[in-house]
Amino acid sequence: MSELTKLDLLGWLRESRPSRLLELYQRADSVRRLHVWRCRAFARLIEISSHCKRQCIYCGLRSGNRDLPRYRMTHEEILDCARQAEKLGYGTVVMQAGEDDNLTAEWITEIVRWIKSETALAVTLSLGERQHDELQMWRSAGADRYLLRFETSDQNLFRTIIPAAFPEHQRLDLLQQLKALAMKLAGRHGWNSRPIVRQPGR
Ligand code: SF4
Repeated sequence: MSELTKLDLLGWLRESRPSRLLELYQRADSVRRLHVWRCRAFARLIEISSHCKRQCIYCGLRSGNRDLPRYRMTHEEILDCARQAEKLGYGTVVMQAGEDDNLTAEWITEIVRWIKSETALAVTLSLGERQHDELQMWRSAGADRYLLRFETSDQNLFRTIIPAAFPEHQRLDLLQQLKALAMKLAGRHGWNSRPIVRQPGR
């Protein structure tokens, strides 16, 4: 596809004719095939808990947000989602939550082990800042990737947007630890940009 100008992009964003939209989808699909055809590139996001002890000011999940209904999925509900993801042809499940101390390292380990032994899925975890021994346990259980947002390298800004977080240099240490564990890294840990795949009604 030739490079799109700003005008082209605006035109596509305003497009509503089904035949033109079909053309757009087909072109998008050919780009996808070109880059990820041979990879299992689709991931199913499972929001396993909406509890979080942090106060990141940009995030709806922050503990101070009293308007958000909180839930925590059960072991069985998570496993059901993983089974369903595999059936639907996904290659990866992403288990994501706020920084929730009730999600113990052992509990997560058990789920990762089950998913890795019973399915062909890759497992990505996005559980915030956790201890090195916990990351090690999850890696040993078979977790493939870890998502951790790196908001900024500006320490003052970091402390403003994440008042209760670890100092910024510890976030960098954590990223180094993940790298040393050979866990693939991705950069996100925030509620406001996450689609909710499964939210039990409680
Ligand atoms: S960004 Fe992550 S750690 Fe911060 S409040 Fe949201 S879920 Fe919690």
